[in-house]
Amino acid sequence: MSIQNTSVVGFPRVGKNRELKFASEKFFKGEVSESELQKTAAELRLYGWKKQQAAGIAYIPSNDFSFYDNVLDTAFLFNVIPERYRNLGLSDLEKYFAAAHGYQGEKGDVKALPMKKWFNTNYHYIVPEVEDSTEFKLIGSKPVQEFNEAKKAGIETVPTVIGAYTFLRLARYNGKKCAKDFVADAVAAYAELAEQLALEDAKWISFAEPALVLDVNTEERKIFNSIYAALLKQIRAKSSLKILLQTYFGDIRDVYGDVIALGFDGVGLDFVEGRKSLELVQKGFPKDVLLFAGIVNGKNIWRADYVQKNALLAQIEKSVDASNVVVSTSCSLLHVPYTVAAEQKLPANVLEHFSFAEEKLLELADLASGNADALEKNKALFASSRTPENRAVQNELAALSAADFERKPNRLDRREIQKNRFHLPAFPTTTIGSFPQTAEVRANRAAFRKGEISKEQYVKFNQKKIAECIQLQEEIGLDVIVHGEFERNDMVEYFGSKIDGFVFTQNAWVQSYGTRCVKPPVVWGDVSRSAPITVEWSVYAQSCTQKPVKGMLTGPVTILNWSFPREDVSLKTQVQQIALAIRDEVLDLEKNGIRIIQIDEAALREKLPLRKSDWHKEYLDWAIPAFRLVHAKVKPETQIHTHMCYSEFGDIVRDIDNMDADVITFEASRSDLKLLDALNEAHFETEVGPGVYDIHSPRVPSEQEIVDALHKIIAKIPQQNVWVNPDCGLKTRGETETTASLKNLVAAAKRLRLE
Ligand code: GLN
Ligand code: ZN
Repeated sequence: MSIQNTSVVGFPRVGKNRELKFASEKFFKGEVSESELQKTAAELRLYGWKKQQAAGIAYIPSNDFSFYDNVLDTAFLFNVIPERYRNLGLSDLEKYFAAAHGYQGEKGDVKALPMKKWFNTNYHYIVPEVEDSTEFKLIGSKPVQEFNEAKKAGIETVPTVIGAYTFLRLARYNGKKCAKDFVADAVAAYAELAEQLALEDAKWISFAEPALVLDVNTEERKIFNSIYAALLKQIRAKSSLKILLQTYFGDIRDVYGDVIALGFDGVGLDFVEGRKSLELVQKGFPKDVLLFAGIVNGKNIWRADYVQKNALLAQIEKSVDASNVVVSTSCSLLHVPYTVAAEQKLPANVLEHFSFAEEKLLELADLASGNADALEKNKALFASSRTPENRAVQNELAALSAADFERKPNRLDRREIQKNRFHLPAFPTTTIGSFPQTAEVRANRAAFRKGEISKEQYVKFNQKKIAECIQLQEEIGLDVIVHGEFERNDMVEYFGSKIDGFVFTQNAWVQSYGTRCVKPPVVWGDVSRSAPITVEWSVYAQSCTQKPVKGMLTGPVTILNWSFPREDVSLKTQVQQIALAIRDEVLDLEKNGIRIIQIDEAALREKLPLRKSDWHKEYLDWAIPAFRLVHAKVKPETQIHTHMCYSEFGDIVRDIDNMDADVITFEASRSDLKLLDALNEAHFETEVGPGVYDIHSPRVPSEQEIVDALHKIIAKIPQQNVWVNPDCGLKTRGETETTASLKNLVAAAKRLRLE
């Protein structure tokens, strides 16, 4: 039975057991054919549709599947493919993967398209590149094919596609043309897609327009209006296809009036992150339009509080006729794992609070149908208290004062002290921390976890790997050494598992980039550290070399941002508790002779509110102090590094400087070092290593390429502040390409020293 008023924005696609990841990896290695990969993909799509059908969801999406990324799919659907990929002479799917992760082989050598975080999530999308010669036109048929595939299985779906506004807004323009020059062609192309879907008997098309929740300026608003005024007209002229404008990740305060005036058949609003969505709807909502009300949180893993959701629905229904309200997810369920049913290890009193994608389907059905039994059960659940408290941590937090956030002396004075301590050459070279996680490294961890080998065997193996890794780094000639992170599966999961207050799932994977997934820890209670975490590894590593070894930690903001946070305690409280735990680790490393400590904040920018006006008060005002809290107590001669990746930092470089680290390394190579201008303008004070090559791709950068990158860097940044490093950790890379790349990196740094 379908419950007429339920909808899902998107469903996970990597497979309950990450089948898509494994199948694609085999495909890249040539172990399975393209058609076998396609078969896996079809099975995964069918699985998702069937689950949604079984839960009674009325509006089930299609074309939410992707081999890599939906934005990249949209680019390939509409011929927004840079020349360099088109000219390679590859098959369509190979071309697509070339754009996603670069291509180096018989047919050429091309870099991947840049990758960025998808709004305020830990999912990454591929940034389309538009050239002046780009002809925006429909060349693909993926939405039509997937719609038909579902239809064949007896499932009516709503084809969903990234909308023209968001696509043109996120794209990068390499030539003279800009977004508005492509509007007319884009409209025609989207209209043609709609027409084809109508011919196949689709009832609806959904245009995903998350970019509408960003700040929209006058110019952008004009573009949005011109796109949809024309597109609606063209679609209406040819068919009676219904049109849903789907937004998520916030509210659409800047364009709400336009949206309701344009004449969509359905409008999807996010009532979870959209703080103003209710207020907007209360201003008026058109009579014959369906409101797809995103009330079930698509981003977290906690059960919905039915009492609270019902109250929200009641509010909404004061402004919108109840029969026009469709209960929906706040965003795609891509950002949560498949199902709680796959968790066998956690106790029932924890699991009963969890709701993953498949459970959320049932929540939609409960809420839409007003299931009374379910409501009673839910009330009982929320009435029971759940989290273990830790008074000591709560007291420690309460006692913090300004001095706990202020490192002494100031950075320039520390720099002198550290120069005299380390005597590093100009353009010091280093890496971001991890070295290739080979099959044997993973096997060693797995064997230990399963109890197949003793702790001693496990440690011995890792020590051997550390010693080898350090020898390799010395041979290559790197100046600041790392231990390689062989003991870690994931930079957040590792720390979460060693700190009290977190719980861990077995299977709760969510996609991060391509088909790569992360398994975020869950903040369950008050957080504290009961014993040192990394000290033994770092001390062992330092015993293998005279050169300084960097201690390697994950920062509190990243740990929180890459975990599923609690909803019953503020983020500020959670981050400070984590900061205190990491601070203890920093001080223990220092006490044990570790002279340089890197505190990674890879995800610092990730949760930056999407609207500028919220940045400071809602986020940076607690995130930056949390980082300062971690290192404020170290000695002046201890050098603190941090690292960040995949984001546009341009607009927060002053806040980054204000974290008061001594050195920062970042991802910059995929964004063509655009960041340098921002650093330059802000008179960035922290020493900085903008990544000189892209580690997300297996291609080996030549020495010359790195020299060129360094020249660009020193044109903008004082030479004495420049470090030389790859743009992120090397754990996903192979050993051969890593060694070759790092040799070129060191050679490039040496050349610069001679110049
Ligand atoms: N130190 C980590 C590593 O090298 C950093 C990873 C990251 O920034 N994502 O793997
Ligand atoms: Zn990184």
